Order: sequence, then structure tokens, then C-alpha cells
Amino acid sequence: MSELHFEHESLPQRVCFASGEARAMLARVVARLKGSRVMVIASARDADRATQITADLPVVHRHTEVAMHVPVQTAKRARAAAGEHDVDVLVCLGGGSAIGLAKAIALTTGIPIVAVPTTYAGSEATTVWGLTEDGHKTTGVDPRVLPWAVIYDAELTMSLPVPMSVASGLNAVAHCMDSMWGPRADPIDRAVAQEGIRALSIGLPQIVADPGGLGGREQVLYGAYLAGVAFSSAGSGLHHKICHVLGGTYNLPHAQTHAVVLPYVLAFNTPAAPEAANRIATALGSTDALDGLQELRQRLGAPKALRDYGFDASNIDAAGAAILSVVPNNNPRPVTTGDLHRLLYGAWQGTDPTTITYDTESRR
Ligand code: NAD
Repeated sequence: MSELHFEHESLPQRVCFASGEARAMLARVVARLKGSRVMVIASARDADRATQITADLPVVHRHTEVAMHVPVQTAKRARAAAGEHDVDVLVCLGGGSAIGLAKAIALTTGIPIVAVPTTYAGSEATTVWGLTEDGHKTTGVDPRVLPWAVIYDAELTMSLPVPMSVASGLNAVAHCMDSMWGPRADPIDRAVAQEGIRALSIGLPQIVADPGGLGGREQVLYGAYLAGVAFSSAGSGLHHKICHVLGGTYNLPHAQTHAVVLPYVLAFNTPAAPEAANRIATALGSTDALDGLQELRQRLGAPKALRDYGFDASNIDAAGAAILSVVPNNNPRPVTTGDLHRLLYGAWQGTDPTTITYDTESRR
């Protein structure tokens, strides 16, 4: 009987990796695109760096209005600016918020994006867009929002503070782990995700030990890219469904929420997903997936409890109900209301995930 049976779509994208060379790489990539009217998107905090690395480009507009989760009104103003200036290439520098704004413009205009990421969120490698209106986040998938090229220059991530680097890096680890059992997960996604976890688990402790060192930052950027690639193909698994509800409805910080919730999902799913558990453990250099993750989190001083990030325990039941309606059918283990209550309560309190007992039997 055939053991390998899948359909995998590889996304077309140029990926350039060279620390300290963002300016030269941008010039080459924009020339290749024959860009003659460039719009640069970077928050006010990044404006100086953006000016430096885009100095050789034909810039017609610099846009600094960048906000987390891309509010619809922010997107409308950015689209209007792109139209007014007859822009033919979008260059964005920053984290998922700056890249998200470029994606919002590309979604309605098809203008190609060149992304220069400065966090480990991985949005640059995905076809996923997101917009927020009246506290409600809508996401969708569209090939037009995939950046045409990505330029990774680890020197641009040096300024990312260690706690944010840790949370953002664990957000990337979460992309990899959820790619093991996402709704479209295939063997290619799992292989890419495994290499992503390996690189992230090597690089993150190096950043904590030596925040000014380049090696750890490069490993984590490389891992974050692989995480985005795997996640874009595999789709949102249980972990992302949980974090999407928590972030979107209760306005919790994106990266920290992922960092807290991940061990709870891993403890829940891995008993029913032995291949994933094995790959994760191997990638972490451990004999057990959860032990490996917890050791890594310990070394990094990772975020521990949702109550530290503004989540109120009185919202657990409503959040659980919202999550239950979107849990993927192929999750390795069936999920009940009671399971989600225990998982969320544990994550709210920062309980040891191995001590939580769930309703559902694992299928092992
Ligand atoms: P972000 O872009 O908002 O950045 C977080 C903070 O770090 C900001 O204050 C930013 O100014 C600062 N920052 C960024 N780079 C820095 C640097 N090098 N030095 C110092 N400070 C720096 O947040 P994020 O975590 O990168 O991205 C989160 C957003 O991206 C969310 O809206 C999330 O939904 C979205 N996202 C989308 C996808 C996708 O596939 N579409 C994937 C992941 C995340």
C-alpha cells in the first residue's frame, strides 16, 4: 500500500540572505522587478534605517503609519497613497505589522512586495493577509500578497530586545509545530518545519546569551523563514486557532500569546501524533517533544502565563466556545469544551502542562 500520497504547492519567491547587505540586495531585487516608483513602508521607529537601506531606490513615497493587526482605515489610507503616487513596487521594512500593511495594498492592487523582515513572525513567507475592523480580525489567503522577494539581513534584527526576540522566535517555533498537524500538513511541510525547529532551538539560546552576536540572529531568521513556509502550506492547526481567538477577541499580544500557549497544545496533541512528536523531539535534540520544548523555554526565560498578558479568567468559557467551532477536523486528537476549558485555564495560570488531564482519549 502507498504510504506517500499528497499534493504540495511550493510558493514562488526569491529569498536573499546576507547580513549587512540589505541596501545592495534591495537595489538588485528592485532593478530585477524594473521598479521605477517605490513606496517604502516602515514605522516611524524604523524610518531612519529604512531611509538608509532604500537610498539607492527610486522612492516616490515613504509611509510610516503602521499599526498592529492592520486596521481597515490604516489600510485604506495606505492604498490611497499607493494610488496617488502611482507606485509600482512596495518595499516594507519591519515586523508582521509593516509586512501586513504591504499585503493589504497588494491584495487590492497586485503591486509586488519586497519584504525586509526585522522580527521572526514569518509573514513574509505566507499568502495569508489580515485586516482588523471594530476589534474583529478577518484573515484570508491570496497569492497576490506573497512578497515577490524577501531580504533577510540579520544586522537589522540586532535592535530587537531579547524578550521580544524570545517571544517572536517562539512564535516561529509554534508555526513549525502546528505545521506538523495543520489541515493541509504534508511530508514536505513536516521536513521543513523540523529543520526550522532545529535552527530556532540553536539560535534562540545564542541570542539570549549574546544579544549582540550575529550567529544566533541568523539562525533564528533562517528558522523563522522555514516556519513561515511550512505554516503557509500546512494551514492553521489547533494552536493557531486558539491564538487567533485570543489575539483577535481579547487583544492579547501576538508573539507572547503564542509563546505561552504552545506547550499546552504540544502536551495535548503529541500523545496522539507519534510521528510529529518524534520529529519535534529530534529537532530539539531531546528524547521527548514536550521535555525538549520546556527545556528550551526554561533557557530562554519564556513567557509563562496568559494572566500576565491581560487575559481575564472570566473569558475562558467564551474563548473556548469560539475556538471549538474552528478546531480543524483532522486534529490528531478530538477536542471537547471541557478540554479547551482545562487547556486555557492551565495557560492562564501557567500550570505545568503535564499535570492537566483531558476528557478525550488520545488515539495512541
Ligand atoms: P510587529 O511587527 O508589530 O512588531 C512588534 C514590535 O517590535 C513593534 O513595536 C515593532 O516596532 C518592534 N520591532 C520590530 N522590529 C524591530 C527591531 N528589529 N528592533 C526593535 N524593535 C522592533 O509584530 P510581529 O510580532 O512581528 O508581527 C505581528 C503581526 O503580524 C500580527 O498582526 C500578526 O497577526 C501578523 N502576522 C501575520 C502572519 C501572516 O502570515 N500573515 C504571520 C505572522 C504574524
